[in-house]
Amino acid sequence: MNFVIPQTAPVVLPVVGNDAVFPVRRVYCVGQNYASHAIEMGHDGRQPPFFFAKPADALAPGGGRIAYPPHTANLQHEVELVVALLDGGADIPVEQALACVFGYAVGIDLTRRDLQAQAKEKGRPWEMAKGFDQSGPISALLPVAQAKHPANGRIWLKVNGTTRQDGDIAQMTWNVAEIIANLSTYVTLAAGDLIFTGTPAGVSTVARGDSLECGIDGVGELKIELI
Ligand code: MN
Repeated sequence: MNFVIPQTAPVVLPVVGNDAVFPVRRVYCVGQNYASHAIEMGHDGRQPPFFFAKPADALAPGGGRIAYPPHTANLQHEVELVVALLDGGADIPVEQALACVFGYAVGIDLTRRDLQAQAKEKGRPWEMAKGFDQSGPISALLPVAQAKHPANGRIWLKVNGTTRQDGDIAQMTWNVAEIIANLSTYVTLAAGDLIFTGTPAGVSTVARGDSLECGIDGVGELKIELI
């Protein structure tokens, strides 16, 4: 096949213990999936799941140096468990959902909170608040063979050494299997899809020059520096 412009390189994630990489198809995110964060965002913590997306090439594999984005005075971090799929489908039953999982990673759903607040107020889309360049720093994937299917474990994030987020993935309102099953009623999921599964309480505003370090027990760690 000939292309009229150069073809974009695939977005790939490193895989722990494997020289081969994981090609990313789509990146979905769950909103307000921990009661503690839903409450800090003004909700009662018992909403059904809702979803948004980031462009795959908005990921920043391996973290590292992240350019502070334009059009915001309130950039915030959301540390999240990320699920990577090796299989998909539509209307996946909850009891079959975990068989679709290739592995897990630690990600940060970087958010221009001021733009998100304006979007919510005016009923506008969230893309420019959530899907900007380098808005999805993410660690290497840990395959299920090593990660198992983590149902609990500390999820934390520090800014310049100070702990800001400190929760447990057991606190998720909707667990991984339920998220996959529910999302697959809206879209047909496929191998290569990632799902950011929501963040615990403690989101805070960060600035150029800040160093962020985060992790999930049994899954991995990730560091970024805002430049
Ligand atoms: Mn999020």
